[in-house]
Amino acid sequence: MISAQSSYVPRLLPLRLPRVCLVVTGTDPAEMVDKAEALARDNPFLEFRLDYLPRPALALVKVKRFLEMHPYVTTIATCRRVANGGKFRGSVASQLDLLAKASNAGCHLLDVELQTAAKCKPAQLQRLRTRAALILSFHDYRATRKLEETLKTMVAHRADFYKIVTTATTLSDNVAMMKFLETHSDKYSLIGLCMGEPGIISRILGVRAGSVFTFAAVSPGEETAPGQVTAQELRSVYRIEQVDAATRVYGVAGDPVSHSLSPVIMNTALRRENVNGVYLALHAKTLKDLLTCVREIPIHGLSITMPYKEAILKHLDNTDSHSTKIGSCNTVVRAQDGKLYGFNTDTAGVVRPLEQRLPLEKAKVLVLGAGGAARAAVFGLKERGADVWILNRTVGPAKKLARQARARSIKRADLKKLTFDVIINATPVGMGNTRESPLNENEINARYVFDMVYDPAETRLMKMAKEKGAQVIPGIEMFVHQAARQFEIWTGKPAPWDEMLRVVTIALQDRAAAKNESRKK
Ligand code: NAP
Repeated sequence: MISAQSSYVPRLLPLRLPRVCLVVTGTDPAEMVDKAEALARDNPFLEFRLDYLPRPALALVKVKRFLEMHPYVTTIATCRRVANGGKFRGSVASQLDLLAKASNAGCHLLDVELQTAAKCKPAQLQRLRTRAALILSFHDYRATRKLEETLKTMVAHRADFYKIVTTATTLSDNVAMMKFLETHSDKYSLIGLCMGEPGIISRILGVRAGSVFTFAAVSPGEETAPGQVTAQELRSVYRIEQVDAATRVYGVAGDPVSHSLSPVIMNTALRRENVNGVYLALHAKTLKDLLTCVREIPIHGLSITMPYKEAILKHLDNTDSHSTKIGSCNTVVRAQDGKLYGFNTDTAGVVRPLEQRLPLEKAKVLVLGAGGAARAAVFGLKERGADVWILNRTVGPAKKLARQARARSIKRADLKKLTFDVIINATPVGMGNTRESPLNENEINARYVFDMVYDPAETRLMKMAKEKGAQVIPGIEMFVHQAARQFEIWTGKPAPWDEMLRVVTIALQDRAAAKNESRKK
């Protein structure tokens, strides 16, 4: 335990602080401290957000008792003023008074905003440091800018830690934050990260760039800053405790990406196969931003999703034959020489589940749709010797694809006359609901029906197909197979297919349950 009086508290603290500090809030002191009680065993580093309480001073007796009972827990006391992004409505003097009392109660670190420091006398700040370490903090809720200037202003005040939290509006903002941390963390004990959805990179990789620690939410819905991740996610999905200089960075890039299941499935695979890597959701609002980030971070592998699957092609140094034929790329590898290579694993996503069930040579397959996923299916199936028919809402793209792939396009009216071995839905019809289907019941004449849509887990098309006696292949299988192929390309290891399917199935079930729950409310 740290001796509260010692002047070496501040010097030693950075050496013993865990990487993750959980931010504890509450509507009253009992709720806040009860939460801390529940967290203490597995989380030795907590921040009490006293400003969330209507009367923060009333919490200090309970905080003191909590710290006496849990001497191994290190705590930050924060009472951020409204003007600086917090909830405390009191004056600077009352804020400082409260923090002094928090240190008397045993809190080891006190967070004071730069704006507060600018308003008080140096002696007032230094008095706070007699019993606890001082974190001087600055929050920019709009952008990531002027990091150097901000630090210069901050270090004019003597503190033990300097915390700069900005807002990422681009992925490149993370690069700026991490370069800043790398440059200055030798000289100062820094805490740095970017808020906002694009800031996830800095939340995970900031600690290896030099941030002493990072912040986490206790649970979903308890975030105290935009883009904040839960401690559970930081530890078990992103394995933040293991991130080091050798950790390879992967990610799914698109706009939007917040609902992607790829981080869950890929981080599971990396952990299971003992690959020192982390996979992040990269919300890229422009391709230029994404490419800058890939080079600067550097990022070792990317899953590319909407809307960049086609546009990325011309920025790659080379592509495999599938990507070239299909005209879209969903997988990028950054080689050691920095060159970017593109692959399309959607073909594997379609072909592998089918090959496990039937021979594809001469199989009669109907593909619904003529977009990117349909193109991957058609070229992949033709390569395996299947006879392929294409039906699309708009005739032109179907005809064009049929010509390019030496397949046939058909009209919907002709469907009733034909039977197929496989029907594949490569349109978004049926996504997010159980009402819509791309085909009517009397048009489903096939042994197998493969729906690329994977949310909901059972679509209307799949339900009708089952009722007609067809075997169904859920879109989740395509999702797992294309991800497994990406994993193999990036790591050279066989993908843990079963485990990937298991976690993504659970994630979809959880999502459906959450949707039902919110419908009930
Ligand atoms: P895309 O390039 O936008 O193509 C969409 C295709 O669907 C087009 O041919 C479009 O026809 C057709 N379409 C769109 N809305 C329609 C409607 N209301 N009725 C009939 N046809 C309609 O999209 P994509 O990338 O190919 O993706 C297609 C679907 O496959 C999506 O649901 C996607 O989520 C799914 N997918 C799943 C996986 C997986 O891993 N399971 C992988 C990739 C894609 P027009 O030419 O007439 O516009």
